[in-house]
Amino acid sequence: MSAKKAYDDILRLMREHHNWFDRSIPLIASENVPSPAVREALTCDFGNRYAEGWPGERVYAGCIYIDQVELICNDLARKVFRSEFADCRATSGVVANLAIYSAFSNPGDWMMAASIPSGGHISHGKKEHSGTAGLVHGLNIEHYPFSKEEMTIDVDLTKKKIEEMERDGKAPKMGMFGGSLFLFPHPVEELAGFMHDHGMHVNYDGAHVAGLIAGGEFQDPLREGADTMTMSSHKTLWGPQGGIIVSHEKHADAIKKAVFPGNTSSHHLHHVAGKAIALAESLEFGKAYAKQVIRNAKALAEALAGYGFGVLGEKRGYTASHQIAVDVTKFGDGGTIEKDLEKADIILNRQLLPGDIKAGRHYMHPGGVRIGVPETTRLGMKEGEMKEIASFIKRVVVDRQEPAKVAKDVAEFRKQFQRVQYAFENAVKAYEYISLTGRK
Ligand SMILES: *Cc1c(COP(=O)(O)O)cnc(C)c1O
Repeated sequence: MSAKKAYDDILRLMREHHNWFDRSIPLIASENVPSPAVREALTCDFGNRYAEGWPGERVYAGCIYIDQVELICNDLARKVFRSEFADCRATSGVVANLAIYSAFSNPGDWMMAASIPSGGHISHGKKEHSGTAGLVHGLNIEHYPFSKEEMTIDVDLTKKKIEEMERDGKAPKMGMFGGSLFLFPHPVEELAGFMHDHGMHVNYDGAHVAGLIAGGEFQDPLREGADTMTMSSHKTLWGPQGGIIVSHEKHADAIKKAVFPGNTSSHHLHHVAGKAIALAESLEFGKAYAKQVIRNAKALAEALAGYGFGVLGEKRGYTASHQIAVDVTKFGDGGTIEKDLEKADIILNRQLLPGDIKAGRHYMHPGGVRIGVPETTRLGMKEGEMKEIASFIKRVVVDRQEPAKVAKDVAEFRKQFQRVQYAFENAVKAYEYISLTGRK
């Protein structure tokens, strides 16, 4: 392929992606759609500059405006998360977690975390699974006992396990809460005191639920006893991809050093500007959004359960977050169903569920799918639309209708939801392709 052909193809493919999302139903639980202002931040010149270090103590010149933006960003993060300290430089949620591992543990230490089928993230994972904690920082991992019925960490069994580990000379140094399959709050309040008494650092990974915590609608980890909280800036928050760390003041110095120079050089200054805008939006609109997200997730769960889908967490009302988990083994496997729905322009992802590994299923063809409503809610959808989405999913998965036929109705449905809501400005359509080359 000639260089010019590759160049033209890339510009065309980006536009086609926008056109596709413009007519699709985006249901990936870890994704969202940013406001036009956040997208503008991503195209600004900040992205070509270096700062390094802390505003006012930079390694580079040329940061007069960048410093002001970063100070505003940190200030907003402290307000939104009601924290004494915030560092918005981590370039992703994984980098934020790595900074916490570096600041508060040593290679060879033990950490408690949720297993992947119980919702844990690969950045909390073991070395033999190429998990970041094990592979990059040399931590040993023990998994929390997990209740599938309650879909959360079992408090009493966890306390027993920590005591057992101490007797075996494996006393854990860190407790990691939070996860990627995350329906109900984790028992931070119930366990943080016990963990502190046993010499552990408590981190809460709010990558998925940061926007709900910002809105005051999920749990409040720093008040419940967590020492530090890491997060991604782009899942239920509205930022560009990135990471944020918030904590009590006494941990500030350790975190700052672990972020720079420990785990970043450039900290992607255009993303810092985007995070700042997203945090301002969150401060203004975050509460109403978080409430609607949770209402939508419950409505979608109820509608799918009504069609015979095995929605997890039934005993507790299916979900208290932005996502639901659905056991699809009655209709096939998560991998195949993900592909079928994608052909109907319904975009969600397959999911390992508790018990899948024991049942011999693996991540390519797991027993479940995970469905998130952060993006459809940002587009202005409410409970009534969730019922329609459930019926589109049913037509593909249960009735086995032709995906192309369903896609036509999906595109028609999407026409009413073209702009980002919960934002200061939305004059540009949510997925409008903005060309700087002047191509059509
Ligand atoms: C998505 C996720 C991360 C990783 O975030 P990135 O920003 O993609 O690096 C970390 N922890 C949890 C629980 C996640 O779900």
